[in-house]
Amino acid sequence: MKVLKFGGTSVGSVESISNVKNIINDGDKKIVVLSAMSGTTNHLVSIAKDIEEGNASEAATKVKALHETYKVVVNNLLNTNAELNADVQSYVSGVFELLLGATEKAFTQALENEILAQGEILSTYMVNAYLKQEGISSTLLPALSFMRIDAEKDPDIDYIKAHLKTVFDNAEDAQIYITQGFICLDAEDEISNLQRGGSDYTATIIGAAIKAEEVQIWTDIDGMHNNDPRYVENTRPISNLSFDEAAELAYFGAKILHPQTVTPVREDNIPVRLKNTMNPEAHGTLINNNHSEVGIKAIAAKDGITAIKIKSARMLNAHGFLKKVFEIFEVYQTSIDMITTSEVAVSLTIDDDKNLDKILVELEKIATIEVDKNQSIVCLVGHSVVNHHDTYRLFQILQDVKIRMISYGGSNNNISLLINSNDKIKTLSKLNDYLFELVTL
Ligand code: ASP
Ligand code: MG
Repeated sequence: MKVLKFGGTSVGSVESISNVKNIINDGDKKIVVLSAMSGTTNHLVSIAKDIEEGNASEAATKVKALHETYKVVVNNLLNTNAELNADVQSYVSGVFELLLGATEKAFTQALENEILAQGEILSTYMVNAYLKQEGISSTLLPALSFMRIDAEKDPDIDYIKAHLKTVFDNAEDAQIYITQGFICLDAEDEISNLQRGGSDYTATIIGAAIKAEEVQIWTDIDGMHNNDPRYVENTRPISNLSFDEAAELAYFGAKILHPQTVTPVREDNIPVRLKNTMNPEAHGTLINNNHSEVGIKAIAAKDGITAIKIKSARMLNAHGFLKKVFEIFEVYQTSIDMITTSEVAVSLTIDDDKNLDKILVELEKIATIEVDKNQSIVCLVGHSVVNHHDTYRLFQILQDVKIRMISYGGSNNNISLLINSNDKIKTLSKLNDYLFELVTL
C-alpha cells in the first residue's frame, strides 16, 4: 500500500481538493495524510498567541472570522449533497465552538497544542465527506488513536504499529483511508504535534509502520529544486536524491520537506516521491537508496543561525576542553550544527537561540566568547561532493563573499559554508550560475 500526503495548498481550495481527488482515485487502496488548509495553522498559532498575551477578545474575533471562511469553503465543496453539507457544517461549527471556548481559558502549552490540532481535524473531515459526495469510498483513521511520540519527542514506533493496526482492523472497509498529518499524542497522552510542517513526517512514520510500498509527498512545486526558487532564478527540480542527500537538504533549509521526513523510512529503503498536485505529470523527485552521480546536486540555505566563537588559552594542548563546551550545550538542550576548531579557539553554530543567554553565562566562565547573529548556513549537497572537481572552484566562485566558517569532510555528501545572511542571495545566485554551468568562470 502507498501513503500519499497532501500539503496545505493541495487542500487549500475547492479546485485543489478536486485535483487531489483525481490523483487518489486510481482504484488502489491507500492511506492519505492531509495537512490543514493553507493558512489555517498560522491563523491558529496567532489565536493561541493572543490568548497567551491576554487578548481573549482579539482571539475570539479571529476564531469567528476563520469560521466564516470555513462555512463558505464547506458550501462550495459539498454543493451537491445537502445531507453531507449539513453534517460537515455542524461538525465544523462544533470545532469552532471548541476554539471559542479555548479563548476564555488560561493559556497553557496543552491548550495551544489542542488549538493547533484543529486545522488537520477540519481538513480531513471535510475531504472525507467530499470524497463520499463524489462517490469514492473513504473513511477516517483518527491520528490521535495511533500516532504518538515518546518523552524524547521521537515517534513511538511500536505503539504506532500496534495502534494503527487496531484502528485499521476496526475501520470500515474503504478505498481511501484518510488521516491527519502533524498531530499526535505525547508520552503523557496529551495532544501534541510533530512541529510545523510535520505532516510530511506523519506520512513517513506511517509508511515505516505499515512497510509501505512508497510514500508520496504532494506539494505545489515539481519536487526538490537544485537551489532555492524563492531567491534564485533558473532553478531546476532534481530527479533523484539519496536518503542522505535529501536529509541534508531538508535539514539545511530546503523548505519543501520537514527535516525529519526521511528518517523513518531510510532503513527499510521505502522510496519517497515528491510530486506536484498542480502538475501531476511532472516527474518530481524520487528519494531512495540508488547510487547517484558524483557532484554537487543542490544548494540550500538555512537562516537564523548564530555563530559562537569560544577562545581559550586553556585549550592549547589541553584535553577535555571540548567536552566541557559540549556539556553546556547539552544541559540547555541546544544542538550544534556546524563546528570548526583551531588550536586556541572553536567556532560553532546553533539555530535555536532560546537559551543563548544562559549558555553564554556558562561559556564565559571557561573562555572568551564572540557571538555573531544573522548568519546563514549555505549547504552544498551531492553524492561524494567532497571528491568532486567543482569543490575546488568554490573559493574562486565566492571570492567576494566573506565566509565565516567552512565545514568540509564531515560527510562525503555535504559542504557547509557560514556567511552573513545579507550575502545569502548573492551567494546562492553565484553558486547557481557557476556550479550548474549556466555561466563559466
Ligand atoms: N499544518 C501544519 C503546519 O502548517 C503541518 C503541515 O502542514 O505539515 O505546519
Ligand atoms: Mg510542508
